[in-house]
Amino acid sequence: MVSRVIPVDPFDLVVFGGTGDLAQRKILPALFRRHCDEQLPDGARIIGAARSDLTRESYQALVAEALQTHCGAVAPEQLARFLDRVLYLRVDATDPAGWQALTQELGKPRQDRVRVFYFSVGPSLFAPLAEQIWAHELADDQTRIVVEKPFGHDLASARALNQTLASHFDESQIYRIDHYLGKETVQNLMAIRFGNMLFEPLWNSQYVDHIQITVAETVGVGGREAYYDKSGAMRDMMQNHLMQLLCLIAMEPPAKFDPDAVRDEKLKVIRALEPVEPHHIVRGQYVAPSGATGSDLTYRETVGAPRSTTESYVALKAHISNWRWAGTPFYLRTGKRLVARSSVINVFFKDAPHSIFGADAGRHANLLTIRLQPDEGITLKVTIKEPGPGGMRLMDVPLDMSFAQALGDNIHGAPDAYERLITDVIRGNQTLFMRGDEVEAAWAWTDPIIAGWTSRGDVPKPYDSGSTGPGDADLLMRRDQRDWRGINP
Ligand code: NAD
Repeated sequence: MVSRVIPVDPFDLVVFGGTGDLAQRKILPALFRRHCDEQLPDGARIIGAARSDLTRESYQALVAEALQTHCGAVAPEQLARFLDRVLYLRVDATDPAGWQALTQELGKPRQDRVRVFYFSVGPSLFAPLAEQIWAHELADDQTRIVVEKPFGHDLASARALNQTLASHFDESQIYRIDHYLGKETVQNLMAIRFGNMLFEPLWNSQYVDHIQITVAETVGVGGREAYYDKSGAMRDMMQNHLMQLLCLIAMEPPAKFDPDAVRDEKLKVIRALEPVEPHHIVRGQYVAPSGATGSDLTYRETVGAPRSTTESYVALKAHISNWRWAGTPFYLRTGKRLVARSSVINVFFKDAPHSIFGADAGRHANLLTIRLQPDEGITLKVTIKEPGPGGMRLMDVPLDMSFAQALGDNIHGAPDAYERLITDVIRGNQTLFMRGDEVEAAWAWTDPIIAGWTSRGDVPKPYDSGSTGPGDADLLMRRDQRDWRGINP
């Protein structure tokens, strides 16, 4: 049931930051899996480029180790064939040395070979890399660049980054990654909404009471302390991943599944977001649960900043001012060290306008749950008659479809987000990448929220590691006579 594998065109992919964590954990394993599926044509080359002084052989050894760690069982003959594609050059983004060798290896851009530069380095190196690529005439108008998150720290820095890249590359050549968009189930949101007649007529404020989007993680900030403490949950997760989910849930149907048609509709959602009221925002920071032993660190201990006011959790209520959604609140929350790892969207439909069954039947409303991870699937809660002779009593039952059950092993055979995204870059399909104006609009909505709590001197509320987040997030819902749906594993 998984789509046929269609080989991509021959390519040269230069991975700047080819020795880094992201390259080892995600980019190289993704390329290897596509290679094993025969999707990479003969002659496709992967050129690792970084500051370390490595030979081709020692880089190949590093790649082999990374694949063995991150790809499970690796067949030796597949590995050997993959490593034949892998080269290494020592290239420093800020130093001309090394660029001559890269120029020699790549030659002039050619029409019959796709050329991709993957910027898997810190954002401060994006501009120097773009400049060196142009100075050495390594790109033409068919060349593509891939840039990693975070795309800016606020609107001003995102704008500056866009301008820098735009001075060397056309927007159609720039692929800004939000790996959430490459997830099979996130793309499924569009299939569920626009491939079925069932939901779309009800997908508006007349029938939908409210929508909850939860991205919960069990991990803390270990390993990324310095970056995270300057960023926090709002910048690290809300501005990009949750915003993208919100867009896919709330956007109008695009006329076709084409990059600009889809991204135009997403942009309209972001631009229609109202500013968030301060009392509709809850920030939290994890602490060790009461009775914890020494190994359970608090957020502040983890980042080594005893007074840090960075949030590891944020919940907020958002409103979209347009005809479809006026009056339907969207509750968004994300946090670290929560009780379970789970990404879920819950669409709560309104009660039936009139109950013919009387007050004893209680209140019943439909709920559509879209689980993105783990155990991807959808559940629709419907109301039925409680079985038995005791009169007309009602109960709710789930119509449950676990994709793993329905699709068997095929769901697990579905490509990882990076596999999908990298092959889309080589194919030249930007649908699942963020456009520059989209990123700027997301920052334009986020910046005043952050500026607001900074100027008020708000301090995040403590919450226990392993809990569902701070109690104030529950109050945010209760004030509206609502409750969060549980965070389930
Ligand atoms: P890392 O620190 O592990 O690796 C950085 C890489 O950049 C190394 O290969 C290093 O040699 C290279 N490098 C550093 N300075 C250089 C220079 N002057 N010239 C050329 N190469 C240079 O970082 P990472 O975790 O791999 O992250 C890379 C990028 O991806 C960052 O922008 C990060 O925010 C982003 N990102 C990482 C992850 C992740 O899980 N690691 C997730 C999302 C986004």
